[in-house]
Amino acid sequence: MNLQSLVTDHFRLTEAERRGLKKLGIEIVENLLYYFPSRYGGVAEMRAIANLQKGETATVFGRVSKLKASKGFRTKITMGTGELDDGTGKIKLIWFNQPYLAKMIPEGALVRVEGKASEKKKSGELYFSNPKIERVEKVPLSAETSLFGTESDAHHLHPVYPETRGVSSNWLFHAIQKILKSGALDFITDPIPPDILKTYSLPSRKTALIWIHAPKKETDARMARKRFAFEEIFLIQLKKQKERALLKNEPSFVIEKTEEQITRFTERFSFPLTRAQQRAIDAIAGDFKKGVPMARLLEGDVGSGKTAVAASTAYAVVTSRPQGQTFGNMQVAYMCPTEILAKQQFENFISFFSHLPVNIGLITSSGCRKFPSKVSASWQTGNGATDISRAQLLKWVANGEIPILVGTHSLIQKAVRFKHLAYVIIDEQHRFGVKQRKALVHKEKIIPHLLSMTATPIPRTLALTLYGDLDLTLLDEMPAGRKPVNTKIVLPNERVEMYEHIRKEMQNGRQAYVICPRIDPPRVDEASPRVEAGEPDPTKALAVQARSAKKEAERLKKEVFPEYEIAVMHSKLKDAEKEKVMKGFKDGKIQILVSTSVVEVGVNVQNATLIIIEGAERFGLAQLHQLRGRVLRSTHQAYCFVFAESSGTKTVERLKALGQAKNGFELAEYDLAQRGAGTLSGREQWGVSDIAMEALQNLKMVEAARAEAARLISEDETLGAYPLLSQHLASRAKKEIHFE
Ligand code: ADP
Ligand code: MG
Repeated sequence: MNLQSLVTDHFRLTEAERRGLKKLGIEIVENLLYYFPSRYGGVAEMRAIANLQKGETATVFGRVSKLKASKGFRTKITMGTGELDDGTGKIKLIWFNQPYLAKMIPEGALVRVEGKASEKKKSGELYFSNPKIERVEKVPLSAETSLFGTESDAHHLHPVYPETRGVSSNWLFHAIQKILKSGALDFITDPIPPDILKTYSLPSRKTALIWIHAPKKETDARMARKRFAFEEIFLIQLKKQKERALLKNEPSFVIEKTEEQITRFTERFSFPLTRAQQRAIDAIAGDFKKGVPMARLLEGDVGSGKTAVAASTAYAVVTSRPQGQTFGNMQVAYMCPTEILAKQQFENFISFFSHLPVNIGLITSSGCRKFPSKVSASWQTGNGATDISRAQLLKWVANGEIPILVGTHSLIQKAVRFKHLAYVIIDEQHRFGVKQRKALVHKEKIIPHLLSMTATPIPRTLALTLYGDLDLTLLDEMPAGRKPVNTKIVLPNERVEMYEHIRKEMQNGRQAYVICPRIDPPRVDEASPRVEAGEPDPTKALAVQARSAKKEAERLKKEVFPEYEIAVMHSKLKDAEKEKVMKGFKDGKIQILVSTSVVEVGVNVQNATLIIIEGAERFGLAQLHQLRGRVLRSTHQAYCFVFAESSGTKTVERLKALGQAKNGFELAEYDLAQRGAGTLSGREQWGVSDIAMEALQNLKMVEAARAEAARLISEDETLGAYPLLSQHLASRAKKEIHFE
C-alpha cells in the first residue's frame, strides 16, 4: 500500500461510502491516516444491559430486532423504535423524529449502540433515547467479562472517528488499522527537525500516527495529539515568518511625512487623540519611511477609534508623491467586510477630508460613488457624493484621480487597477480570509503598506500563530469620557420591567437596537434534526426556538412599543432597502432597529445607546461584546440587555462574564477556556484544524513553536538546511491554492 495511492484501489467501497469519503476530503491513503479520532471510547464505558444505570451514557453491543417506524400515539411525533439484546438483558431503542434510522439497519444485525439510558416516567423502564447505532462485525468482550478474560485482543482505547453519512466510525477504524498493518508507514517522513522533537520530547511522525490510531495507553494518544498540534502550529508559524522575512526584501513606497504635518490634519478633529491613537499613528508613519512594505495589525477594542488612525495615516499617503514622479499622488484602498460599513466609512472619510481637495471613491457590488460631486445638487446622496458608473470610477482610480477608494471585497476584482497603490487598509480584518487580504496587497507590482484593523479580541496564542507575519500595535485606551456600557443579564420574568426602563430612555430621545439570532421564523421542516449524526443537534433545536428579527419587530410594534417607528435589518434585504433603513435610523426617523448580527461590525450611530440581545447564548462572548460595542459611541450612558432563552446556571455564568470582563481580550480568553476553540468566531477562515485549535489553549506550546520557527528563519529564511521542511511548506501552500 502506497501513501499516495487512491483509497478506491485498496478498499471496495459502496456508493454511499464513496460519497461520504469525498465529503470528508479523503481521496488517498494518506488522507485516511490523517483523519484523526475525535475521542476514544474506553472499554470502561462499555456496559452490559443488565448493569445499566438510569441517566448513564454507555456503549452496548448486541443484536437488534423489532425495528419499526411509527408515530407517537398522542404526540404524533414520528419515530423509529427497536430492541437491543446483549444476552444479559433487553433495552428499548427510540429515535424521535428519525423514523428512517429504524430502516437503515437490518433486523437481527449485530450493532454497537451508544447513548443515554433514560427512564420512562410511568413504568420506570429504561430505554435509549436517540442513541447512535452502527453495525459491527463482531461483539467485543464486554467490560464485565474482560475483567476475567484475556485482555490481549481488546483495544483498550477504541478510537472513535467523526462520522458522516455513509462512513461510520467503525469503517474508518478498520480501514485505518489495515493501513497501519500494511507497512505503508515506513515511507512516512518527518518534517520537524529531530533536535526540535528531542527538545520537547515529541514522538516522530510515524510513532505519533500509530499512537493516535492505536494507542496502548492514554498518554500515547495524548502525546500523539500534542505532536500533531505542535507540527501544525510550527508549520503555520514557519510559513508566516518566512513570508515576513521575504517581504522585508521587497521595495515599497517611501512616505516622508513628518509628525507635524500629520498633526496639522489630526488637530482639526472634534476630539483630541488618545495617547494610544497617537502612538499608533507614529508607528505607522515610522514604517512608511523605511522603504519596505509595512505589515501591521492594529488591534483595538470596539470604539477605541481605529478609523481616525486609518484616516490620519491615509492623509500622509495621499498627500505624498511617489519617488521620481512629478505628477500624481499615492493612493489608498480601504476594504470593509460589509456594504453597510463601506458606506459608513466612505461618509466618515468624506468628513475627515472635506477641507482638502481629495477625491474619494466608493465601490461595492451594488454600485459606485464619488466625492466631491461634479454635478448638480439634486443628484447628490447624503454628504455631497454622487452615484457614478463603475467604468467612470475605474478610470479615475486607474489614472490616479481618485486617491482614496473605499469598498467591499469588490476592491479585489481584477478590473480595479490603481496607478500608485501605496497603502491598503483592511477594516475588521478578521472577517476576511488571508487570501482576500493577499489579493488586495498583491494587486499591483509594488507591494503597498498594509494596515489590518480588528476589534476581534482574539486570545494571545491565536494572535501569535495567525498573525506571525504582522507587527502588532494595540489601541489599549478608550477615548476619554466614555462610560462603560451598563450590561444586564435579563431573566425571563424581568422582561416587562426591562421594556419600561427602555421606554424611559427612549422618551429622552435615545434609540435602540434589538438583535435576534435569525431572520425568519423557522420553517416546519427545519424542526427535524440532522440525519448523519443520528442524534438531534442541540444548537439546531435552539435555533428553532430562537426569535426571528421579522417576527420580533412585529411583536414589539404590536405589543410593546406601538408609539415608535420600528424597522428590520438583515443580510437578505436589498441593498437600497438596507441603505434606506440605516439612513432612517441614523437620522432618528426610526427609533428601534430590529436586526440580525449584521450590525455587529463597525456600525456607528451615536444616538443609539440601547441594545437588546435576544437568544444571547447563541452568540460567542466576543461577538456579544462586538454587538454591545454598537452602543459605546456617545457620552450618554449606554445599556445592554442580554436575554437568554435558557436560564440554566451555565448560560447565566457565561453571560455574566460579559458584565465583568474589562475588555474584549479577557472575554476571548474566557470563551476559549469555557467553550473551546471551536466557538471562536471566524475560525473557518483561519483554516486551522481541530487539533491545532486545541493546542491554542496552551500558550507554552505556541510560544515554543514560534521561537523554534523564528530560530530557523533567522538562520536562513530559505530553509536551505531543511529540505524536508521546505518541501512540506511548499505542498501545504499548493494545497491551499488547490482548495481556493
Ligand atoms: P472603532 O475602533 O471601533 O473602529 P471608531 O473609529 O468607529 O471605533 O470610533 C468610534 C467613535 O469614537 C467615533 O464616533 C469616533 O468619532 C470617536 N472617536 C475616535 N477617537 C476619539 C477620541 N480620541 N476621542 C473621542 N472620540 C473619539
Ligand atoms: Mg471600526
